Amino acid sequence: MSKFKFVVALTILLSVWTSALAQNKGFDISRMDNSAEACTDFFQFANGTWLKNTEIPAAYSRWGSFNVLAENNRNILKEVVENASNSKAAVGTDGQLIGDYFASCMDEAAIEQAGIKPLNPYFNQINKIKNITDLQRQIALMHNQGIPVLFGFGGSPDLKNSSMVIANAGQGGLSLPNRDYYTSGDEKSQETREKFRQYLRNMFQLLGDNEEEARSHAFAVMQMQMRLANASKAPVQLRDPLARYNKMSLEEAAKLTPNFSWTHYMQTRSVPTVSEINIGQPDFFREMNTMMKDISIPEWKTYLRWMLINSAAPQLSKAFVDENFNFYSKYLQGTKEQQPRWRQCVAATDGAIGEALGQEFVKKAFTPEAKARMEELIDNLFAAFRERLGKLDWMGDDTKKEAFNKLSTFKRKIGYPDTLRGYKGLKIDRDSYFMNSVRSDQLQIERNLQDINKPVDRTRWGMTPPTVNAYYSSLLNEIVFPAGILQPPFFNFSADDAINYGAIGGVIGHEITHGFDDQGSKFDAEGNFKSWWTDQDRTKFDDRATCVANQFSSYEVLPKLYMSGRLTLGENIADLGGLTMAYTAYQKSLEGKPRPENIDGFTPEQRFFLGWAQVWAAKATPEAERSQVLGDPHALPRWRVNGPLSNMPQFAQAFGCKQNSEMVKKDACLIW
Ligand SMILES: [Zn+2]
Repeated sequence: MSKFKFVVALTILLSVWTSALAQNKGFDISRMDNSAEACTDFFQFANGTWLKNTEIPAAYSRWGSFNVLAENNRNILKEVVENASNSKAAVGTDGQLIGDYFASCMDEAAIEQAGIKPLNPYFNQINKIKNITDLQRQIALMHNQGIPVLFGFGGSPDLKNSSMVIANAGQGGLSLPNRDYYTSGDEKSQETREKFRQYLRNMFQLLGDNEEEARSHAFAVMQMQMRLANASKAPVQLRDPLARYNKMSLEEAAKLTPNFSWTHYMQTRSVPTVSEINIGQPDFFREMNTMMKDISIPEWKTYLRWMLINSAAPQLSKAFVDENFNFYSKYLQGTKEQQPRWRQCVAATDGAIGEALGQEFVKKAFTPEAKARMEELIDNLFAAFRERLGKLDWMGDDTKKEAFNKLSTFKRKIGYPDTLRGYKGLKIDRDSYFMNSVRSDQLQIERNLQDINKPVDRTRWGMTPPTVNAYYSSLLNEIVFPAGILQPPFFNFSADDAINYGAIGGVIGHEITHGFDDQGSKFDAEGNFKSWWTDQDRTKFDDRATCVANQFSSYEVLPKLYMSGRLTLGENIADLGGLTMAYTAYQKSLEGKPRPENIDGFTPEQRFFLGWAQVWAAKATPEAERSQVLGDPHALPRWRVNGPLSNMPQFAQAFGCKQNSEMVKKDACLIW
């Protein structure tokens, strides 16, 4: 039954989309709610009928424009992986890697037959641990395999010398999404922990424990993770870049954790020799240090076994996949059923060898013309940003000069990487899906470690080409747009400009503004954490940011569950700034031209805002909404539309909203 719904929802969406393309307007008015007022609830006005008629497909916890596009991209990739798996490409070629990875993932019979066997070598290693030295060696070995025990470690740019890669260690080792899930006392959090304990017991029983053993093992894991959680920082605290920066000599690190040897750890992992390391959260590592002695070796072994099985579960036989799904997807996210196997396998192939797969995707779904059009749009967005910056009344000239300087040094990446790293030395075959997954993880992990002590390679990408997303890196001062998002409804090569500026223009503006949000504004033109503000201007900026934080903290997502204005601040500043820039850029693009006609009765300015609202058409299960509020820095879609627009006089003007309308915020927040 639910499968049936899935197909229907998909067809409706795709047919809506096709008709939108056929009309060449980039927007379909049949998705709007004519009974809603634009000035009362614009999200409802723009998407109401779509929201009413759309059911979240059973295999999803959220469904909207992003998902529709991601599905479409995956359909394109399906053809690529299936062709590759049906042909016999030479060993080591991209075609062979793609084809065999996908085929091994699809071979459920072999996976079922292997059962828990692929993990046996690892369990044997864990069983041999006799003392704290063995334990620390095992932690290092597990990190080499990508198993997220205890803490995270890897190379990334130095916050204060961003052209160099340094070694970083950060808090980790939990199995619930973040520390608040362990520490919050509310009823729902208690229920979640109870469900988690049940999940732990079920998994230990699948490993062969009897009920009593499973209970005591689950208890031990929970005890340890509670201690780690209590010593960890909450998501909102992790947003402070300076608090995460505690670079110290190895001697200092040894003093911080006398019971844990960083030297041995890094030797075991073949990390290039370093004299310094950044310890992201010293309090966390102090607690880890105490736990090295406090926790018995048998309990440590239980914890390591748990982290191994929990991270490997999705690659194992059905019983493990199902348990894992039931807790993480069904209970925590409200997803009713698993994705069809081929979708899971396309996503897994993209995750493992996405660079190779991405090249094929780009051939089918991205053109040089689209790239050229994006270049032009980005140029126009930067021009708009410069113009607005020049006119900002709250910022002094000294700070402005630095802001202009930063703006002029942004780098951009569009579509796909120009420089390919390849997969030399990676062995992928059809024997074992689990081992393919381990080996491809290992390659990425090794490469990351080998970057340490080297200059940052600016050609790298943090996302694969088919990804429906975009990002800004404050350390590299660059904006990146994978080909995956440069498709309708975000970017519609043949559609009305107003829609494009409202959709992809807003996204471009969003990413640029990240360079000037509450975090990005603390990094200079070279990507170093360094203030370029006068004290006076910084105070004014912080006051304006607080306005946005307070605005979003007032939004009640579910009964008594409010959005965190501080957790979502950077994203909300980026939306507000991004839309303002995109609107300005659109207006500039109209200069000296005859005014565009109304379409479906909507003015060009109104269509701009409809373009943005359409991008965020989405609905989610209550579970997914809750988990987004608790851990995601992005506001929920309804407020990503209504929040920024209610601050924009341009919006009120476009729709003729009265001063007392819901969509016109008193004391509007204005930053960029
Ligand atoms: Zn963002």
